[in-house]
This record gives sequence, C-alpha cells and structure tokens, in this order.
Amino acid sequence: MKFGIAIGAFACLPATCGAQEPVERAANLKRFQYTETHMGVPFRMTVYARNRGLANSASAAAFARIESLNRVFSDYSTKSEVAKLRAVKAGQPASVSPDMAMLLGRSLRLSKQTNGAFDVTVGPIVRLWRRCRRTKRLPKPESLERARQRSGYHRVTLSGKRLTLDAEGMRLDFGAIAKGFACDEAIASLTKHGIQSALVDGGGDIRMSDSPPGKDGWQIEIEPEKANTAATMLTLRKCGVATSGDRYRFVEIDGTRYSHIVDPRTGVGLTSRLMVTIIAPNATDADAFASAVSVLGKKEGMRLLESREHTDGLIRDYLATTPTSHRSSGFAQFTVR
Ligand code: AMP
Ligand code: MG
Repeated sequence: MKFGIAIGAFACLPATCGAQEPVERAANLKRFQYTETHMGVPFRMTVYARNRGLANSASAAAFARIESLNRVFSDYSTKSEVAKLRAVKAGQPASVSPDMAMLLGRSLRLSKQTNGAFDVTVGPIVRLWRRCRRTKRLPKPESLERARQRSGYHRVTLSGKRLTLDAEGMRLDFGAIAKGFACDEAIASLTKHGIQSALVDGGGDIRMSDSPPGKDGWQIEIEPEKANTAATMLTLRKCGVATSGDRYRFVEIDGTRYSHIVDPRTGVGLTSRLMVTIIAPNATDADAFASAVSVLGKKEGMRLLESREHTDGLIRDYLATTPTSHRSSGFAQFTVR
C-alpha cells in the first residue's frame, strides 16, 4: 500500500512491496479502509483487524475522537472552545478543557523550540491574510501592526488548566497543528481498541502505528519535484509525517504568491515557495515543524532539523525555475527512492 502526500491531495495505490509474512498472522488480519470528513478535510483511516466488527467499532471510536477535537479547535465554528476563548479579557484567567490545556501546552513549547516560527497566537495575522485572499488586496501596514500587537506566544500564560492572555483581541490558531494532533489521538484510540497496525491521514498530516502485516512499513509517496519524474517514496512505521506548502492555499498579488502560512515575526504571508515534509515521532510535532521550517527557510530550517533528534525533513524549493530538494542528514534512511 502506498500513501501519497501532496498537501491536501492523497493517492492510495495498490500494495507493491514487502517481505512475505508468516501465513498465520497474515491470514488473521484483514485490511479495512474508512473515510470521513472532519476539520474540513477527508480523514482516511486504514486499519488491520481480525474482523470487520472490530475494525468498524475501533474506527468509529477513532473518528468520534477526531470530531471531539474539532469541537475544541475548529477555527470555522463559532461554538468551538477556541472561538469562545476570543471573548477572554486581557489579564483575566480562564479555565480550559483538558484537550485545550494539552495541545496549547505542547504548542507553546513548540513555539519556544522553533523560536516563534511556529506560533499558536498567530490568529489575528492569519485572519487578515484570509480576508486578503478574498479581496486580493494586501493588508494595510497599520492593520498588520495591530494584528502583530495582538499576537506572540510570550503573551500567553498557561498554568495547569488556567489560561491568561496578556493583550485584548488575541486569537489562538491551531491550524498548523490540530490535524496532526487529531491523527495522533485517532491512532491512540485505535490502539486502545486492540488495533496495532493502522494509518490515519488527515489531508497530508499522517500518523501510523505498526507496519502492515508482513511489511517493513507503510509506503508514503511524496509528489515529485517536477511533473513526469519519479516520486520520492518513504517507508515509515510508528511515526508521523506532515507536509506544508503554498500549493493550494495562497493569494497572488502583483505577480507575488503569498502563502496561507505567515511569518509571525513580520506578519507577512510567506513568499519563499517551499514545500516542506517532516518525519517526527508523532504527527503533532511533524505538523508543527512542517509549518515552522517553512517559515524559517532552507538554511535556518535545516539547522533546526539537524539540532533535533528523531526529526528529519525534506525541503523543496519551487522559487527558482528549476526546483531543488534539500534533505536533512537522517532523511535518507526512510527513502526507498
Ligand atoms: P499548515 O498547513 O499545517 O502549514 O498550517 C497552516 C495553517 O496554520 C494556516 O492556515 C493558519 O491557520 C496557521 N498558521 C499560519 N502560519 C502559522 C505560523 N507561522 N505558526 C502557526 N500557525 C500558523
Ligand atoms: Mg502544520
């Protein structure tokens, strides 16, 4: 089985490689596939289970877990917890749910680790660029400045389940991490139901548990640098992989393409035309690092990857006429071709 990552696109191709497994184990496990739309993208789940009854109930519980996270982190629903937190007054502590405390805590740590390239408070800036995608006009400098004053992860304090925001008008934005987290939580739910071999793909953010029976890992396909050339193929197990880029969500103004990923330091949508794929121990980290490395760029981004254990990446640069690829030193171990 091969899975393709192409930022929002997905290809599931027939099984191709892998050693033969002991007949007994192979005979006991069957492959089941499910797709449901959550968080605005199709979540695809592949599980190996003894029978359909177990696969159905385990996948239903995993999808329910994803939907419960959507109710907390959705940026598009006015009823989600993250939407309600917009009403919190500066300096007044608010109680948050266990899921919010957990992912906000991780996000704040990731914000520090990436030196603010990933920043969970980037909501006011993202909102300006969403409007810009609709109007095709760049945000006014004074609007950008105001949005920047309402952002900054150092303006958030989380103590247990109590959150304090330092400025009025702040908006948390989990768009760069929530789908990865949802994949991780779905896999945790499947594992609890006795499923050891599964893959959950949330529109390009992927988490997998153990390999399909008899295989070395799950085959993941990254779209090629150029059309009509061979795709990069990865074999992965028990980890997360995520891709960020400007392929589908961007605005073009006066010949410049501005990505939906913004540089929190300047408030400007990225114009660097990178596509970043990250392999990490889980999909939450992979998702956040894919966005962070996009912001940091080739040199700084690669330095960050090399400084971290168990985090590798591929950066494709589409700005030049001939695209180029750059891999962290550990990336090759996962590459089949
Ligand atoms: P991804 O596709 O995972 O790179 O996430 C992009 C989404 O994350 C955007 O649509 C925004 O909602 C949000 N976002 C944009 N820039 C950043 C950033 N620098 N740090 C954190 N979140 C961001
Ligand atoms: Mg991301």
